[in-house]
Amino acid sequence: MTDKFNPRAILDVLKRVLPDDGKTASLHEPCFTGNEWSYVKECLDTGWVSSAGKFVDRFERGIAEFTGVKYAIAVVNGTAALHVCLKLVGVNPGDEVLVPALTFVATANAVVYCGATPHFVDSELKTLGMDPAKLAAHLESIAEIREDGCYNKHTGRRIKAAIPMHAFGHPVDMDPLNSVCKRFKVEVIEDAAESLGSYYKGVHTGSHGKISALSFNGNKVITTGGGGAILTNDVDLGKLAKHITTTARLPHPWNLTHDMVGYNYRLPNINAALGCAQLECLEDFLAKKRALAKLYETSFAPVRGVVFFTEQKISKSNYWLNVLLIDEENADQRDDILKLLNENRIQSRPAWDLMHKLHMYSQCPRMDLSVAENISRRLINIPSSAFLMDNR
Ligand SMILES: *Cc1c(COP(=O)(O)O)cnc(C)c1O
Repeated sequence: MTDKFNPRAILDVLKRVLPDDGKTASLHEPCFTGNEWSYVKECLDTGWVSSAGKFVDRFERGIAEFTGVKYAIAVVNGTAALHVCLKLVGVNPGDEVLVPALTFVATANAVVYCGATPHFVDSELKTLGMDPAKLAAHLESIAEIREDGCYNKHTGRRIKAAIPMHAFGHPVDMDPLNSVCKRFKVEVIEDAAESLGSYYKGVHTGSHGKISALSFNGNKVITTGGGGAILTNDVDLGKLAKHITTTARLPHPWNLTHDMVGYNYRLPNINAALGCAQLECLEDFLAKKRALAKLYETSFAPVRGVVFFTEQKISKSNYWLNVLLIDEENADQRDDILKLLNENRIQSRPAWDLMHKLHMYSQCPRMDLSVAENISRRLINIPSSAFLMDNR
């Protein structure tokens, strides 16, 4: 005897969990209750708002310390961070880069900024991220390892790198992914834009590949307004990342000399000031987001037809955006659910359109993407702001 699935049951749970304050519960809102005003004011009072000042160094040290990565380089946004990561591992025009089909468009865009082509990879259901076993099988059938790297036998292009992305904060299964990539001579760049505060086997995301990107956009776990960071444990890459993102200017008291084509990607001091204050609240945000996820998990447990997505045992997720997966047989009601929730001032939305469905990427090489397609039909994100757990 199975009760019929009813979208109302989802609404009822959300109404019980979320504050009843007459406001729209948005997906993810920033929270500025720490030293944000005072640090930003200090920038204005002293005139240090732009490309120099103490907050940038302090923010970089803070991020490095929190993540346990040796070098953190603050940049203007997460997309710019990805762009530089790709450049630094040697992605050149004409190369291919392995990108999950289930990701935010920035991951694929950054590949194109380098003149390279994204090659789309399927997800696994347990992590939502790149499937190492399926990728291995795919590369075994289409790739050829040569002296200077991995080549796609069908397109003739070199497959230079892979960008696993920790979707909604849930870590990709990095160990098997790293071994596949090593076997095929493919560099690993982590898109950790969504996973500040997420750990794989006890080690922070963004420290499992050669280099990685964070984002501090307004909807991320902490924000600098707009911002991002490059993380790496490699001294040379770290130094080069700093150099290339600060117009490749050579140190000199007054001369403006540059030794390569650099980028003006440095995070302004005023944004870093905001970041320093946010970083002080990060542990608190993470604890509250965890508590909210726990509450969702227990509250959705009795609801038929839908599963609240939880972290793997070997991982710790930051639960950046909470995920509900609708059972396959009810997936055709996804849009009814979205409509019902949004009409009731509970912001919710489906996953991003899969990359190969976007017209500019529809002709790119790809493997079978049936799992990403399945996830994309069934997934909805629900309100996830840390402050939703305040005053409980
Ligand atoms: C947010 C995000 C980015 C890019 O971040 P911006 O700071 O907005 O440029 C990249 N990849 C993923 C998966 C993201 O969620």
